[in-house]
Formats: sequence, structure tokens, C-alpha cells
Amino acid sequence: MSFTTDLFHKNYPIYLDLHTHTISSGHGSTDKIIDLVHSARDRRLTILGISDHGPATSGSASPSYFRGLKYADRHKEGVRILYGAELNIIDEEGNVDLEDSILENLDYAFISIHPPVFTPYEHLDLTETYIKAMNHPKVSFLGHIDDARFPVNFEKLLMAAKDRGIYPEINNGSLMPNAYRVGGQKNCRILLQICKDIRLPVLLSSDSHGKKNVGNMEYIFPLLEEIDFPEELVINSNQQLWEKILF
Ligand SMILES: [Zn+2]
Ligand SMILES: [Zn+2]
Repeated sequence: MSFTTDLFHKNYPIYLDLHTHTISSGHGSTDKIIDLVHSARDRRLTILGISDHGPATSGSASPSYFRGLKYADRHKEGVRILYGAELNIIDEEGNVDLEDSILENLDYAFISIHPPVFTPYEHLDLTETYIKAMNHPKVSFLGHIDDARFPVNFEKLLMAAKDRGIYPEINNGSLMPNAYRVGGQKNCRILLQICKDIRLPVLLSSDSHGKKNVGNMEYIFPLLEEIDFPEELVINSNQQLWEKILF
């Protein structure tokens, strides 16, 4: 089965991917927004979200890049384009690396922990740090909280997210055989089970760096099937839900 066909999983059709990176994330990919749009078009996504790393990531774009996104194209090649950011949590107080005045102009944001920008120390209550970070405007999604290097209390964090209308992502990159994050398989199962139990929707993300993996959720599908995760709680498959969250 080709990759393009895989996107249209019979139970979990993927209409959007909101976690993608362009050359502006500075990770060695030279692909631009338009290259990712072409991938999204070829894979029949309805919505592509660009979420480059916040400015604290070495080599990433400056605040003025994010400020200027409000002037960028919103539709191209039949794909609706949204502009967000993958913010870095920069300290234990949950501060992030874009000012609220810039965040207000974005469509959405992830909050993520990426050492060495911020390396949590032992015994820090990271759950509280995430909860503080959730107070910034436009934070809609928790980025790869499955990473076992930075443990959180999943039940507490997900209940706090639910109270605030914020959703966890299930990150395909965390589940890849060569993933550099740790514990993805085990922790994504736990996350999905809790979300099923408390009826909290999840966002499936490719975390594609460049055009190659835009819309690719191939390692997430087996977990959804194993847990019999309800389709109506998958934001990517449920138009009513994504419209409520994003627009
Ligand atoms: Zn990340
Ligand atoms: Zn990312």
C-alpha cells in the first residue's frame, strides 16, 4: 500500500496535519512552506499547519518571522494553510519563547520541551510547569509529552488540559523505530487510554521536518486500533471538532 493511500485509514481518515517544520526551523531541512503545501495537496489533506520551532531553538526563525505570518498565503493548491508555532517552554515557570502579542496573531501553538533550550532538573514538578505554560494565548496542543526523559503525571496534566480546552498530540515521530525521544510506544498507549477514558480528544501529528512526512501517521494507527480509540475523539478525522478548536 502506498503512503498516499495509508493516509486514508478506513477508521481514522487524516484531513489535517498541524505539526510540520520548514527550513525556518533550522534543522537541516531546506524545504519551504510551498514544498510542504505540495505534499499536503498530493496526500489530499484539507488543512496544513506550519509549526516552526520558536526562536529559542538554535538556528530557528526570529520573532519577526512569526510576526509576519499573518501576511502569508492562507490557501494554495487547494489546501488551507494555518500558521502556528512549536513553542519552547524556556523555564520552570512555564514561560515560552514568543511574546503574547505575537502569539495572538498565530492560529495555534504547541508547547514542547526541547533540551538544551530547557533541561528540566531532577525533582522539578514538570506537570505544574506545563500547566503554567498552558496559560499563554493560542496554546492549543501539548507537544510530545510522551517523552519519558521528562516525566509528568499524565492523569493530572490531561485533566488540566481538558479544563482549559487544550489537547495532547500523539506524535508519529515519537513512535518511529529511530525515534530520539524515549518511551514513545509505552507512553502513547497510556496517553491514549487515559484520553479514551476521560473523553479528551487527541491530535495526531507527523512532526515532519520538511515535506517528506507531511500527513504521515503510520506508526500511530496500530496503537489506535489496539486501544479501539474512538474516531470521534481524533481531531484530524472529525471536522466538527477541528472547526471548534481552530476557527
Ligand atoms: Zn518538538
Ligand atoms: Zn516538532
